[in-house]
Amino acid sequence: KPHIKIIGGGLAGPEAALQAASRGCTVTLYEMRPTRSTEAHQTADFAELVCSNSLKSESENTAPWLLKQEMRRAGSFLLKDADATAVPAGHALAVDRVAFSAKVAERLESHPDIKIVREEVTSIDEAGADLTILASGPLSSPALTADLQRLTGSEHLAFYDSISPIVDATTIDMEKVYFAARWDKGTADYINCPFTKEEYDAFIDALAAAENVESKEWEKLQYFEGCLPIEETARRGRDTLRFGPMKPAGLTNPKTGRWPYAAVQLRQENLRADSYNLVGFQNHLKFGEQNKVLRMIPGLENATFLRYGQIHRNTYIHAPSLLTETLQLRAHPTVMIAGQLSGVEGYTESIASGMLAGIFAAEIAQGRAPQAAPRGSAHGSLMHYITHADTKKFQPANITFDLLPPLEEELRKKIRDKKERHRIQCERAFAAWTEWLR
Ligand code: FAD
Repeated sequence: KPHIKIIGGGLAGPEAALQAASRGCTVTLYEMRPTRSTEAHQTADFAELVCSNSLKSESENTAPWLLKQEMRRAGSFLLKDADATAVPAGHALAVDRVAFSAKVAERLESHPDIKIVREEVTSIDEAGADLTILASGPLSSPALTADLQRLTGSEHLAFYDSISPIVDATTIDMEKVYFAARWDKGTADYINCPFTKEEYDAFIDALAAAENVESKEWEKLQYFEGCLPIEETARRGRDTLRFGPMKPAGLTNPKTGRWPYAAVQLRQENLRADSYNLVGFQNHLKFGEQNKVLRMIPGLENATFLRYGQIHRNTYIHAPSLLTETLQLRAHPTVMIAGQLSGVEGYTESIASGMLAGIFAAEIAQGRAPQAAPRGSAHGSLMHYITHADTKKFQPANITFDLLPPLEEELRKKIRDKKERHRIQCERAFAAWTEWLR
């Protein structure tokens, strides 16, 4: 049997391993934890979700839903495990992270063709395997990152983004907060902390005065636009947070019958519902400062924070110049890159790219020419984006309709309703995906 070496037991690596092994290959999967960890991982578990527990929207005809539906049709193993460990989260797929990791571990450990090695890989040695899949993530160990730089011979981007705090559910003042779904859509799984104008103003002032972690050094950092720290968002204007993560629209407070002036939403973290994360509240304030500022959120005055917001490294390659649409390095086709390191952004996208890498690797290793995912599908659109994006401004991307092929001009003019346009894009994507799978 052909042999595939996979580096990284996060989200992309295990999915790639299971795909390749289920397609007639033997796999060695390397994971450095617990011997060596990263700045964000807290366990030695496979498929650890390092921040939020959400795999995004399940609302029909949204882009994240489309991606997940394609994954389900293609037989993604990790998505199956996510579905099996889902917790209530309105229109999103959120999982119990411990149960999810346990299921993935069980699959990997019980597979006769997968060997697990708990060891840090420090060089991308192409010998000893037919193919190597590098899925070491945004926090790839420095030695491996340096070796990747050597191999690619091109400038390798590294920048930073940040993570949200988690609060102990038993310490939330339930008299002050309320359960509601935005616009009453779906079940009311989110806890909402309502602000009056006075409370909001005081909060913004405190945020502006709070001290960042090593603020001088971070000032130079370039943030991922979809993951701005709250203090950075607040700096962009007094009301910016109120139109962003603190948006009150559609969150009717049953006590007043009205929307509050602003709101912080808390999303359930685990099946026991004993912890909640502050949605969109990633930040890089000092922990002591967070303890003061976050307690100004109505309902969290006496809260215990199980985790504070943090800033972290985010390493990824310059895919448009380095990768093929089958995730192979152009200059070293037996080395493939999957997951966040390849320039996709997000848990689901990382699993999706791991799935493709595993499928492609099995094809290549068995002497067949892999066929890239079709452009019309969500997977193909992601692959197209990372390999064709504007080379100067390349940034990792989540799946969005912007990445999918637009409808023809004529059809766009005829169909004014955005939802209907998205429905047609999804329908086309499924047709292309089904054909490709066949
Ligand atoms: P990872 O899941 O990080 O897996 C890589 C694995 O490789 C790790 O287990 C690591 O220990 C291992 N490894 C690294 N170097 C070596 C080596 N040399 N040898 C052996 N093993 C090695 N996405 C979301 O959708 N929602 C979020 O809330 C979210 N929050 C994030 C928060 C942080 C702090 C970070 C860093 C990223 C976040 N992301 C989030 C982005 C992204 O979705 C995740 O990073 C995702 O885990 C990426 O999957 P991956 O498989 O590419 O990498």
